[in-house]
Amino acid sequence: MWEDNEREDSPEELFQDALIGHEWVAGLLQSSIDTHKMSHAYVFSGPNGIGKSFLAHHFVMALSCLNPPPKVEGQLGFRFCGECRACRMIRDDKYPDVSVISLEWQARMESGTGSTSANANLKIDTIRSMQHEVSRAPIEAPWRVFIVEDAATMQVAAANAFLKTLEEPPARAIIILISDSDRALLPTIVSRCQVFELRSVPTETIEKALEARGADEPTARKLAALAVGRPGYALRAFFDKTHQDVDDRDEAVQEMEALLKADQAGRLAFSEELNSRWSAQGERRASVVTMLNLWLGWWRDLLLVYNGQGRYATNQDKLDTLQAQADRLHLGQIKEMLQWLTRAQSELDSNVSPRLALGDLFVNHLPRL
Ligand SMILES: [Zn+2]
Repeated sequence: MWEDNEREDSPEELFQDALIGHEWVAGLLQSSIDTHKMSHAYVFSGPNGIGKSFLAHHFVMALSCLNPPPKVEGQLGFRFCGECRACRMIRDDKYPDVSVISLEWQARMESGTGSTSANANLKIDTIRSMQHEVSRAPIEAPWRVFIVEDAATMQVAAANAFLKTLEEPPARAIIILISDSDRALLPTIVSRCQVFELRSVPTETIEKALEARGADEPTARKLAALAVGRPGYALRAFFDKTHQDVDDRDEAVQEMEALLKADQAGRLAFSEELNSRWSAQGERRASVVTMLNLWLGWWRDLLLVYNGQGRYATNQDKLDTLQAQADRLHLGQIKEMLQWLTRAQSELDSNVSPRLALGDLFVNHLPRL
């Protein structure tokens, strides 16, 4: 996530970028730092890719920066230099007083023990080893911070163990739970945290932010539309021309085109391929989620184009392909696909495997063109 630092801008500027549309949260968190009134536990919730982890890292930098810039009246957002030892180490995920716990981390820990059990949930052992760390004093910062990604995957036993830490929080620990939805967490956990729900950022806000950074109008409009409320996506796509997201879209569209033409065997093989990406965790798992999001966007566009409203489509640069496909589909097929994809998306969110979530869709519901 910190890899795309090819840009010429100062680190500080790059990090503030991703907070477009979430400045109010940053402002509240910074003022809690300024007045020494931080909570022991936070929930940052909101849709995938909205910037929750980014926000958590910024917050930690503002908490730990050795040389924060002075406060400017009326300016919202975090204050950190981006260049001191603490800022740099946090950015590189190497700061000793910040721990990131996630399914990926859990899988890495387990691979050392030779365990091959599934890593779809944060397990009670993972929570216990975190608790052990939480109770230790910070090494160099005033605080120890624990960022818990994939928090909603904790099942009851793990969540109850976690609750114990929240009930008696160590004085110098701050825990940040990251979750796609605060409703997916136990209410007893949520009630002990300060909750910040990050909402999708309006397309217009993203478009303006891109133009302010030098994008011409058509580029700003296209990327803002593709971003679907995620400013970080739009900025990365704009600044890093080689960034994968634009390629991801093209690849997802090509895969969908191939699937529409494929026979049953081809479709089953693809479903297996997705399953193995999903089981691989980490980036490969994330690629399945991204692909499904892109497909959903594509079928929404097909519905718009079918209804003669192509000007509202997200994939403005692919209107010809959309039109060609829409011409060969019935309205019922498009609507059915949208329902199936939405359902598959929520099933993947609840950690159902793609084989179960998508297999039936591929074999029985995806139209053959
Ligand atoms: Zn700093």
